[in-house]
Amino acid sequence: MKKLILAAWMLSQVTSYAHSSSTKASKVLTINAKSNYAKTLKSLQENGFDVLGVDIKNELIDVALTKDEFIEFKKYNFKINESRNDLLTSSIDERYLNSVEVEALMTEYAEKYPAIAKKIKIGETLEGRSIYAMKISDNVDEDEVSEPSVLFNGMHHSREIMTAEVTTDIIKELLTKYNKDQKITHWVDSNEIYVLPIVNIDGNIKVWEGENMWRKNARGGYGVDINRNYPTNWNACRGSSGWKFSQTYRGSEAASEPETNVLMNFVSQIKPVFNISYHAYSELVIYPYGCRGQRTLNREVVEGIGKELGRVLNYTPGTAWETLYSVDGSDIDWMYEEEQVIPYVIEVSPRSDGFQPSYDKRDPTVAHNRLGWQLLLDRLDGPMVRGINKNATTIKVENEDFSTEYRINPDGSYFIVLPEGSKASDFKLSFKK
Ligand SMILES: [Zn+2]
Repeated sequence: MKKLILAAWMLSQVTSYAHSSSTKASKVLTINAKSNYAKTLKSLQENGFDVLGVDIKNELIDVALTKDEFIEFKKYNFKINESRNDLLTSSIDERYLNSVEVEALMTEYAEKYPAIAKKIKIGETLEGRSIYAMKISDNVDEDEVSEPSVLFNGMHHSREIMTAEVTTDIIKELLTKYNKDQKITHWVDSNEIYVLPIVNIDGNIKVWEGENMWRKNARGGYGVDINRNYPTNWNACRGSSGWKFSQTYRGSEAASEPETNVLMNFVSQIKPVFNISYHAYSELVIYPYGCRGQRTLNREVVEGIGKELGRVLNYTPGTAWETLYSVDGSDIDWMYEEEQVIPYVIEVSPRSDGFQPSYDKRDPTVAHNRLGWQLLLDRLDGPMVRGINKNATTIKVENEDFSTEYRINPDGSYFIVLPEGSKASDFKLSFKK
């Protein structure tokens, strides 16, 4: 009898080992976190559960669980609202763009609008696929020092397929309405606009091959979360995981991933004034920093514009730790800290849409999100100190309420966004060699 029990015990160890090596989610559950939203998210994130998205207004949280995780998860006695297992098996409507179609579209547009559009190869993924960005500007072949740059990028996370739709819609809107729509013509003529529709092409291939919950890149069969791999605040505040199979695995070291480096090199080269990184889902506008309690130095500007984005989109604005949980090693923290970008993450789509909604959600979602990127293009005409000074390395901009220091770009240009309602002439400028 004892032997039988031992045999049964050994067998159970084998099965549980088999389960723990399985990283495929088998359940998606919605937690009702009424009155303990922040605490629930913190606990989910710190225990390594895959939080898919939220409905912050109704305090609902979607979480995906493997069989093993579900055993652990049950111990917490979270209040379950509904089961959403359909998200695991939903087939993606073929009309959504895959990475090959996105690239073909960029080629087509660049050929059709050669005066204002240029397709640029900016690097390669881990598996050697080319990553492309589109430059949209008048005199597109020239680097016009006096024009501010702006970047819109999509799909750090491959399962978030709506982000390729929003970013390609930006390209389409700007190119097809140039010389027809006054505002669009003005934006293209006076700025250098860059759109990078898909950062994580290798992951996107996996999603279209049937792994529709794949989020990370293709490293080693487990994947690294590119958006936890940036060097700023890397592994700084429990905002990522050191476990390879976690959905927020930060990688073996800061900037270990080719995709991370491609984006960093590109941003360092174009030095955008603003950036939006498109993600899904949750209807949020997120600004730096990602670690609990940290705020930007020019918070008035960064958070002011973020709240304005939230207002026009009817999305909830805040830092990651205010709206979700702490995040470390994200692109927006790095862009802000190292390249003086004013960067946002926009989580498009309501919770009910999930990552791969029915195609009838596509047009309304991209149309709605025009309000966001267009607000930033408009804001490039707003209060700003700008110019060219090749003899200085830094500039200080101050009045009695506001003070900021800015490192002048290598080409001598500077673009310092001021708080809403202020006038550039009211600020004192001091240049330093
Ligand atoms: Zn994402």
